[in-house]
Amino acid sequence: MKVNHQGYAISKGKLVHQERARAVLTKPMPKGACTLHVNGDRGNPNAQLVICPDRAYHRLLKMRLQALNACGDPNARQCAICKEWDNPQNLQQSLHYRSQSLEHKGCREHAGVSSSRDGSTIYPEGEIVFPSWTADLEDEL
Ligand SMILES: [Zn+2]
Repeated sequence: MKVNHQGYAISKGKLVHQERARAVLTKPMPKGACTLHVNGDRGNPNAQLVICPDRAYHRLLKMRLQALNACGDPNARQCAICKEWDNPQNLQQSLHYRSQSLEHKGCREHAGVSSSRDGSTIYPEGEIVFPSWTADLEDEL
């Protein structure tokens, strides 16, 4: 089995996961629908797949799978600063205006993170921290 540059299994020039989804549905995928590789094994032609109605549901499932795999609780979220998984009630939205990251208040204070006048967040090292699960969201089908 071949894989493409994104690591997805391909056969006869077509993405195997998309062909399998079409076969199960017995019709073309609805507009906006996509498939999630439950175990992240894109190159596996027999990978467990979930057909998602849209990207938002795909992101939600992927986030819950990552939490489940990381700490056993699908409802947990990762602190962008200390990288620990915790109950979302113990985390706060990042101060960065474009970030959807969550952070412990204590971690933010300990890290010396402050918000500037334009609403962006300044981290001591000058970087914006995103949780690891956001890394490959954009190029995944
Ligand atoms: Zn933290």
